[in-house]
Amino acid sequence: MNTTAHGEPQRLQADVIIVGAGPAGIAALLPLLAAGRRVIWVEQSAQAGGQIWRAGLPAHWRTQVEAALSHPLLQCCFGHAVIDAHIETTEQAVSLRLYQPAQPNQVSVQVQAPQLLLATGGRERFLPFPGWTLPGITGAGGLQALVKQGWPIEGQRVVLAGSGPLLLAAADTVRQAGGQILLIAEQASRASLLRFAAGLPAAKAAQATGLAWRLRGIPYRSGTWVQSASGNGRLQGIQLSTGRETWALDCDALGLGFGLLPNTELAQMLGCPLTNDGAIAVDAGMATSLPGVYAAGECTGIGGVDKSVAEGALAAQSMLGRTGTSRPRRGALKFAHHLQRHFSLHPEVLQLADSSTPICRCEDVSLGQLKAHQDWREAKLQTRCGMGACQGRICGPICESLLGWPTQQNRGLRTPLQAVPLHLLAED
Ligand SMILES: Cc1cc2nc3c(=O)[nH]c(=O)nc-3n(C[C@H](O)[C@H](O)[C@H](O)COP(=O)(O)OP(=O)(O)OC[C@H]3O[C@@H](n4cnc5c(N)ncnc54)[C@H](O)[C@@H]3O)c2cc1C
Repeated sequence: MNTTAHGEPQRLQADVIIVGAGPAGIAALLPLLAAGRRVIWVEQSAQAGGQIWRAGLPAHWRTQVEAALSHPLLQCCFGHAVIDAHIETTEQAVSLRLYQPAQPNQVSVQVQAPQLLLATGGRERFLPFPGWTLPGITGAGGLQALVKQGWPIEGQRVVLAGSGPLLLAAADTVRQAGGQILLIAEQASRASLLRFAAGLPAAKAAQATGLAWRLRGIPYRSGTWVQSASGNGRLQGIQLSTGRETWALDCDALGLGFGLLPNTELAQMLGCPLTNDGAIAVDAGMATSLPGVYAAGECTGIGGVDKSVAEGALAAQSMLGRTGTSRPRRGALKFAHHLQRHFSLHPEVLQLADSSTPICRCEDVSLGQLKAHQDWREAKLQTRCGMGACQGRICGPICESLLGWPTQQNRGLRTPLQAVPLHLLAED
């Protein structure tokens, strides 16, 4: 979609806005278009696929999405991020303001519809330890995404560490691109992993076996985590621990994965309540407590691609006023609970940072500096923690885990949701 470089924000209207073109957004879009709804589809990336299908959609979905992209009822706003959201009470509609990060000189786009589906997915969770901010250390999913986009990993010595199946998916990508994986360090115990494997449904067990076969030969250690990282200006080595023994390992890249967190900023800006787990609260039909606002996928709780697809399809049925089948969702939620139970974090993994370890990377605030304050609000005011480019998306959850500060419900979200050029702030 083209916008002009000068003048008023462009305004678009439809029956439904979907934010997010990952599996949940895709699964919702197709039935809505088929039922004759006019849809505005907003996605900050340049193409559909979300996190899991970043390198391309599976064949089954590709054909359907390609057909949908030329559907006359669809207005596509790819490459656009939502920076503001509110409910127009007089018009009983949701209004969002969009910005194109790749074309910062353009005016913003204002989109409005009586119904909104939030399919904003999740992001990686980080836990700090001494050295965790060294160049060469990324999220495991981030490393995977970089490699899929062509980052040169060939010949580099890579360690994947943290918890959960994303470590294996990232290892698979890195290995295919020629990276040398020295170790996958999984913090969950061997007993927990065996119980997880034994409780997998047949289809997931077959997938896991296929992945394990592709990763054969790579050392995999359970009950093991990275205790610290060191290097002169960039990562050169890590210290590993089992709680009983520690040892050093030289490496060039470290991908960390401690699970995912739901992306809820947009929902919070609109006033949707969150669950105790920090996800968007929804009913059995994926409706939030705000009229016309629905949510689906990882933003309603982390659970993997099957949950996102089931919830996207269910939300679409509810938005059409129909009763959808929730059986696929129930199955996917069961798997999500199974995953969470067996990959819960070892207490020691939450206690690795020392007083000089940076917690807020944007504003360079250490754990020691934060500990001088009572709560998140006071720490923000005194140290600027959470006030940098990431707006507390990384350090907020860390402070919750390490200091017990409830930051998620109380992040004080303000427009714009991300940094924008000044001329956009001057628009009416
Ligand atoms: C970095 C990363 C890598 C992952 N890799 C894998 C993998 O290899 N295998 C696997 O099984 N699972 C992977 N996952 C888990 C994966 O997220 C889910 O299984 C699946 O993609 C979830 O689908 P979803 O539609 O709920 O969310 P997502 O796929 O995350 O899609 C959400 C979409 O919403 C868009 N969005 C969010 N906020 C805004 C906004 N304000 N404005 C505009 N657009 C917005 C995002 O750009 C994204 O495309 C990964 C997760 C992450 C965070």
